[in-house]
Amino acid sequence: MIILISDAFDSGLPGKIEKFGEVTDNNTRLPEAEVVLIRSKTKVTREYIDSAPNLKLVIRGGVGLDNVDLDYAKVRGIIVHNTAMASAIAVAELAFTLMISITNHVTWADRTMHAGQWLKKEMKRTELYKKTLGIIGLGRIGTELAKRAKAFEMEVVAYDPFVESSAFADMKTNMQSVLNISDYVSLHLPLTPETKGIINKDLLNEFKDGAYLINTGRGKTIVEEDVAEALENGKLKAFGNDVWYSDPPENSVVLGAPNVTALPHLGASTKENLLRIGDIIEELIEEYVA
Ligand code: NAD
Repeated sequence: MIILISDAFDSGLPGKIEKFGEVTDNNTRLPEAEVVLIRSKTKVTREYIDSAPNLKLVIRGGVGLDNVDLDYAKVRGIIVHNTAMASAIAVAELAFTLMISITNHVTWADRTMHAGQWLKKEMKRTELYKKTLGIIGLGRIGTELAKRAKAFEMEVVAYDPFVESSAFADMKTNMQSVLNISDYVSLHLPLTPETKGIINKDLLNEFKDGAYLINTGRGKTIVEEDVAEALENGKLKAFGNDVWYSDPPENSVVLGAPNVTALPHLGASTKENLLRIGDIIEELIEEYVA
C-alpha cells in the first residue's frame, strides 16, 4: 500500500505510519497511492481524484473538508476523514488569546513602545471579569472557549441552531439575542451557504456599541467591508482575526481598518496539535486496514 503525504505534517508522522505500507511525499506517485494525507494546500478535486485510480482513503489533518470534492469522492467510493477533534484546544486558546490581547491593547502598546512612544494615558484596558462573551457556533472549539471564559468569571451566552443546552453557556434561540447583550463576540462557524457573509451590516447593527469581535472560524463568514466600516465608525471597538478570504489575504480591507489584530491563520498551528493529528491519522489508517 502506498501512503502519500501530500502536505506538511509533523516530521514524526512517517515513522508512525510506515508499518502500514510505503510512505512517500513524492506527489508524482499519486496514481499509485491508496491513501493520501492532506492539510489545506492540496485540493482533492474531481481532476485530482481522476488522476488517482488506486485512491481509497483521504485523511485531512484539520477541521473542515472544504478542499475535498466530497460528492465525487463518494461516487468513487473513497472514504474521507478529517481530524476535527484534534484542533479544538489549539483554536480555543488562540481565540482566548485574541480576546485578551485586543482588550488589553497588547499589539498597539507593543508597536508604539518599539516606536519610542509612551501612550499610557491613551490605553485604558477593560477587564473580562463579569463581561458577557457571545459565542456563535457552540461546537467543539466554541465549547472549549466557553469553558475557559468561565474560569475568567465571564457570563457566557451562545447561539447554535443544533445545540439545545450546554453546561458552559446559556443558549439563546437566535443570533440577535446573543449579539444584543455581548461585550465580546467570538465566531466559530463552519463555512456553509447559510453562514457565508452572515456577519454583515444588518447583524453588525445588532451588536452592542463598542463590542469586540473575534474570528477564528472561517474568513468568509464575515463581510469584510461591513466589519471594516463598523471599526471605522466605532460600532466595533476592535477585531481579533485569524481567518481570511484567502491565505494569505489579498487586498483585505480589514487590514486597513483601525484596531485590528491580525494573525496568519495560526489557529491549528500548535506543536501539540500536529502531534495529536499524527496520532489520529495513525488510528484512522489502522481502522482502514483492519
Ligand atoms: P464544529 O462542527 O464542532 O462546530 C461548529 C458549530 O457551528 C456546530 O455546533 C454547528 O451546529 C454550528 N453552526 C452551524 N451553522 C450555524 C449557524 N448558522 N449559526 C450558528 N451556529 C451554527 O466545528 P469546530 O471544530 O468547533 O470548528 C469551528 C470552525 O473553526 C470551523 O469553521 C473550522 O473550520 C474553524 N477552524 C479554524 C481553525 C483555525 O486555524 N483558525 C482551525 C480549526 C478549525
